[in-house]
Amino acid sequence: REKNKDFPGQIIEAPGGGIIAGTFQDIVNWARSNSLWPLTFATSCCGIEMMSVASSKYDFSRFGFEVARATPRQADVIIIAGTIVNKMAPVLKRLYDQMADPKYVIAMGACAISGGPFFYNTYSVVKGADHVIPVDVYIPGCPPRPEALLHALISLQEKIKSGLTREQGINEKLLYDKG
Ligand code: SF4
Repeated sequence: REKNKDFPGQIIEAPGGGIIAGTFQDIVNWARSNSLWPLTFATSCCGIEMMSVASSKYDFSRFGFEVARATPRQADVIIIAGTIVNKMAPVLKRLYDQMADPKYVIAMGACAISGGPFFYNTYSVVKGADHVIPVDVYIPGCPPRPEALLHALISLQEKIKSGLTREQGINEKLLYDKG
């Protein structure tokens, strides 16, 4: 038997070829991880970096994030790219509530993680998206590079394939060297 890195099951050697074995949930997780549709939620400058990930240079379609959606009802993962002001917080919560389960959240950039440059002496900025909705993956940077967003999306895929829930450790702060 050997583990297959692209499929969470096992390959069992049998006369005439191999057999892929796994649970039904393994197959569901594998399929789900390869067809994540992002809900775009660009509120400021990080949104420009997020948009570039869909361009031909970075092309997130290669990894299964083909269809960015403008409605929460057709999306699996919300990418929060930018500052969240207090007035926007209820909107973010409402969009998240309208997404079907299972759903995932990526906080892109310092503003979405902690309020970023607006952390001190602000009366209007939410100091982190996780004050409003749960976050699965954090991407540091101001702004993060498009490669960092790709890394976050692929890391989210790996977590989904592994079958971990958010409570079991899906939450992860990604370290990214901008060098
Ligand atoms: Fe703009 Fe920096 Fe905030 Fe991103 S983290 S929205 S680049 S100020």
